[in-house]
Amino acid sequence: TQPVYHESDADRRHITDKTVAVLGYGSQGHAHAQNLADSGVDVVVGLREDSSSRSAAEADGLRVTTPTEAASEADVVSVLVPDTVQPAVFEDIEPELDAGDTLQFAHGFNVHYGQIEPPEDVDVTMIAPKAPGHLVRRNYQADEGTPALLAVYQNATGTARQEALAYGDAIGCARAGIVETTFREETETDLFGEQAVLCGGIAELTKMGYETLVDAGYSPEMAYFECMNEIKLIVDLMYEGGLAAMWNSVSDTAEYGGLTRGERVVDESVRENMEEVLDEVQNGTFATEWVAENQAGRPSYRQRRKAEQNHDIEDVGERLRDLFAWAEETETAETDRETE
Ligand code: NDP
Ligand code: MG
Ligand code: MG
Repeated sequence: TQPVYHESDADRRHITDKTVAVLGYGSQGHAHAQNLADSGVDVVVGLREDSSSRSAAEADGLRVTTPTEAASEADVVSVLVPDTVQPAVFEDIEPELDAGDTLQFAHGFNVHYGQIEPPEDVDVTMIAPKAPGHLVRRNYQADEGTPALLAVYQNATGTARQEALAYGDAIGCARAGIVETTFREETETDLFGEQAVLCGGIAELTKMGYETLVDAGYSPEMAYFECMNEIKLIVDLMYEGGLAAMWNSVSDTAEYGGLTRGERVVDESVRENMEEVLDEVQNGTFATEWVAENQAGRPSYRQRRKAEQNHDIEDVGERLRDLFAWAEETETAETDRETE
């Protein structure tokens, strides 16, 4: 098992005596920058001249300059622009990195697959919160934490791990727990999970179930409810209490049917498919393909995205979700009252 770090393991001085450049002010960037600043760290946000994020960062009271100037000032450069633009941004800031500085990431893709080759005399670390940025920020403000992964790719100074831990603590993650991993493990498990299970797997399972019912003559509305809408109820139970909570909560008929039929639907051929997908993640085939796709202007990506948007299940869903909009609004209003 991997070590898990908590607040008592972190020495904040490893980050509070430094200047941190946060490059990008999107999902992760806005959360890291504000949490660091609220924790007493000197923060400068690096954005391109015409950035649409500039006004938000300034409105939040942060100092904003260009990525190059921010990197030049900083001891720690937190690279929180989209993964696909990181290599280009890195090219701009590389000359500003001094010996002993730190390059800090929230995902290992570019370093692990050699799209970014950091100089040997800098520390290269990762603090990857396991939640989107708005939750990292909201949890911090509520005196709660967001779990995170920590990894050290290069330890030029000998204090890379302590500094990363202090950074993770300063953005609130040590309140929940920081788990140590490696750039390789974080990157490969992240890609595999989103491809095989979380995004790719569940989208295909949903569409196939929907199509099977509709092709057999059932109404699209019923197919949508059974194969898409109810996923949330099931996943919430799994999130709260694992598979056991889910099986406990559904009817005995659903449990027996699921236990006997599930493994026929997702059978051993699916395991073989998953192993192939994992191979492509491990041997770099996927990374090479995705980098080339980006360089070519994303033709296949745009075409597939469009086809997905045009699937019947999306039309049905839009109509049905409108019907339920009143329920959502009531729920949101109640949540807002609770948080006031
Ligand atoms: P976002 O897509 O939210 O980042 C957008 C920000 O990057 C904006 O401020 C944007 O400003 C800026 N930006 C975009 N292009 C450029 C460019 N060419 N030069 C300079 N700035 C640019 O990123 P995320 O927060 O989603 O991801 C950041 C990192 O965090 C990634 O490594 C990601 O894998 C990781 N991560 C993300 C999680 C998430 O839930 N989102 C969870 C955990 C890790 P502009 O207005 O100039 O475009
Ligand atoms: Mg991912
Ligand atoms: Mg049912």
